[in-house]
This record gives sequence, C-alpha cells and structure tokens, in this order.
Amino acid sequence: MADRPRFGPAGVPPLFRILGAQVPDVPKLLHEEGLDAFEYQAVRWGQKPQMKQKDAENLGAEAVKNDVLLSMHGSYYVNLSGKKEIVEASKRRVVACATAAQWMGAYVVVFHMGFYGRVEKNYAFKNCVNALKEIVETLDSLGIRNVKLGPETMGRIYQVGTLEEVLTICEEVEQTQLVLDWSHMHARYLGKFRKVEDFRAVVEEVERRLGAEAARNMHCHFSKIEYTDKGERRHHTLDEARYGPNFEMLAEVIADFKMRPVMICETPILDVDAVKMRDILRKVMEKQKPI
Ligand SMILES: [Zn+2]
Repeated sequence: MADRPRFGPAGVPPLFRILGAQVPDVPKLLHEEGLDAFEYQAVRWGQKPQMKQKDAENLGAEAVKNDVLLSMHGSYYVNLSGKKEIVEASKRRVVACATAAQWMGAYVVVFHMGFYGRVEKNYAFKNCVNALKEIVETLDSLGIRNVKLGPETMGRIYQVGTLEEVLTICEEVEQTQLVLDWSHMHARYLGKFRKVEDFRAVVEEVERRLGAEAARNMHCHFSKIEYTDKGERRHHTLDEARYGPNFEMLAEVIADFKMRPVMICETPILDVDAVKMRDILRKVMEKQKPI
C-alpha cells in the first residue's frame, strides 16, 4: 500500500539490461530516475520459486534503501477454473509466487484468474473464487500474511477478469488487493475510456463496492492499447496518439479523489513512460492546488 501515488515499470527496463544491470541493481537505478515502484516479473514461474531466498531478500533490501515499493506479477500459467490437475498446479504456482513475494517484501502478487473455457461464465467464476479461498488458507498455514493476492482486470473476452468479477473477488476473498489494468478494461470494452467521466465512474464504482480507502489504494497497470473485437491486441507507448486510454484523464481523477495508487507502466518503454506519467500527474495536481 502506497503512502503517495507511486510510479514504476513492469519488469527491468530495456536500457537497464543494455547497461548490464542485474535485478538487485534496479531499485537504485529507478530511484535515480525519480521512480518509486517496481513490479518484479515472475510471469514464467512454475510450481516452485524460481529465485533463491537470498537473492529475493537482497532485492527487498535494495528496494527499502532506495524507497521503491515492490510488487510482483505472478505466473501467467494460472487457470483457476480448468481441469482439477490444472487448478491444483495453478494454485501451487500462485503460492510459489507469494512465497518469494514475502521474501522480497513485495506487497501484492498480481495474477490472472484464468479462462471461462466451455463452461458457463458464472460457473467458471465460482471455481476461481473457491480456488482462491483455498490459496488464502494455504498462505495462512505457511505464515504468508503480508502478501496480498491481486486479481487483475483482463483484456480479452474469454478471460475471467471483468471489473465486476474482480470487485466481487475483493469482496468475497480475504487478503486480496484490487488491481485495475485500465488498458485491459479499455480493450475489453472496445474503447471504454473516452472522457474523464468514464474514469471517474470506475473509481466511484470501486468506492461504492469496496469503500473509499480501497479506491484510494488501488494497484494499477497502464499503457496505451490496441484492440480487436476480441479485446486486447498489443501495448503501445504513451506518445502514440491514435491509441487510448489517455493518462491525462486518469490523472485528473487521481488528483480529484486524492488517490495514492501504485501505477505500474506496461508500455514497451517501461520506465521512460512511467516518468512521463508521474510528470503528467504532478502537473495536474499543481493545477488543482488552491491558490
Ligand atoms: Zn497481468
């Protein structure tokens, strides 16, 4: 949970890699750019943590030293509404991610719930909720209580993860953190965000369902996005005017509601656009300040 709006990249920025930076070097480099969040990408992880505890703790210490708030993007290989063996393996993958998240001090593991498949949508969704409750029980038995599970709004129509579903999970499952991927919502609903009011309506809906604090403290993903009638196609940079959504509009709502979101940038130029988003919000907040 952030003490102020925080900005950072989803994964190690391309330029850092070119400079030969290793993961523990990332917080310091982000701090030098004036960024203060980092989403570690555990997206290809299997059923065991794929980093050593010592390395995770090392990253965590560097993050604290450089005032960078850590989150983790969990494994893509998760489907909480498939065949029994798939669900069981998926649960172990989420637990593996949460284990390492606790080591590094990441406050949330963002994850994708899965797919509707051939079953009725409501039935698939209920399977996800039940599997999540079992994951939370496992985390509790392992003493993992400082890591939240972050179900994410998804960009494709065959993926579990509408705004409604994510809100319901946050209502029904303990130890969860709301994760709004604004670009995914934009793509799924074929251009949902066209004016400031469209963003405001979502924040108001979150307030109504989960309360003002949850709305202020949401974890967000943002990028420009290209879509087809099936939803998300490709992420784009902030400067590509032909794609939405528009971060300036979201920034106005963040300032209005005095939100302190963790804003993770998922454009192809991660950190560069995270800095741009931070500056856009700063400008909007300056403008709104009473004279
Ligand atoms: Zn995601």
